Amino acid sequence: MNITGKAKVFGLIGHPVEHSMSPVLHHTLSDIMGHEIAYVPFDVKRDLERAVKGAFELNIQGMNVTVPYKQDVISYLCDIDPLAKKIGAVNTLVRCDDGYKGYNTDMPGLKRAMENDGVPVKDGSFYLIGAGGVARAVLLMLLENGAKRVHILNRSTDKAGALADALKEGYQTQVTYGDLHSYKAVALENATAIQATNVGMYPNVDAAAIEDMDFYHKIDVAYDLIFNPAVTKFMALAKDCGKRTYNGLKMLLFQGIIAYEYWNKVSVTDDAAAKVYDAMLEELLKR
Ligand code: NAP
Repeated sequence: MNITGKAKVFGLIGHPVEHSMSPVLHHTLSDIMGHEIAYVPFDVKRDLERAVKGAFELNIQGMNVTVPYKQDVISYLCDIDPLAKKIGAVNTLVRCDDGYKGYNTDMPGLKRAMENDGVPVKDGSFYLIGAGGVARAVLLMLLENGAKRVHILNRSTDKAGALADALKEGYQTQVTYGDLHSYKAVALENATAIQATNVGMYPNVDAAAIEDMDFYHKIDVAYDLIFNPAVTKFMALAKDCGKRTYNGLKMLLFQGIIAYEYWNKVSVTDDAAAKVYDAMLEELLKR
């Protein structure tokens, strides 16, 4: 890579960051778009506030934010997008005159990924497995885009209840919740199951949050937000029942593309997105 003094610098803050796919995503995209950028992972081990202020002083044009800072970073922003505020998590910082404005591109990223994969949200029925940070963004995406029915399944039922109660007010969607076995009492037609726990993620690849085959017979589509491994146990169990399966690589792709669009004030075409996806898949399969 040849960086001149004109390069715009972007970055990722989190801990750890060394396995991030975002440098491949952003550098492939900037090559396609003809932009000179440098995208650097920054491992922030101690002081998040000083990291954000330092990035601004170093003229860094935009940042992604990952675990464990998506909530804490909100205290150090000059502004926050209303949607990110409602989700309570920020994964993208856009440079303004006085600091960074925070956005959440995970939620629109998943929406664009599902559209791209031919999984419509409007009037659809969903099992949402998990009630953590990402599940909150997923639930809001389903509510905002007119899902007909959502049943949240979570190991801790109280957290599923708290999530449903915090968000469902004012939406048409019927939202229910229960433990990981509660699907047995809930009949959803043509349901998509969105897997938003970290169960099955590398290196613990031999586990799924729900291992009961009855569940996989009940659903039409299995959508895992994990992308490493590329085929999770959740996906493999659904495949064994002949169901359509997807992993989270496209969500990662589109959350990054939407961040790139904010930073550079451009629109990325589906054709360019497909090329970036291929580069990310190649990188993932090397690991
Ligand atoms: P989180 O806030 O820590 O939530 C973890 C969730 O997993 C909770 O619902 C938790 O249940 C459940 N869980 C953990 N261990 C479990 C176990 N042994 N059995 C059953 N359930 C268990 O995590 P998060 O930030 O929401 O992230 C969740 C996943 O989303 C991660 O795997 C991450 O890879 C993925 N993700 C993907 C993308 C993408 O772009 N594709 C972006 C962000 C995140 P309890 O409430 O009972 O503890």
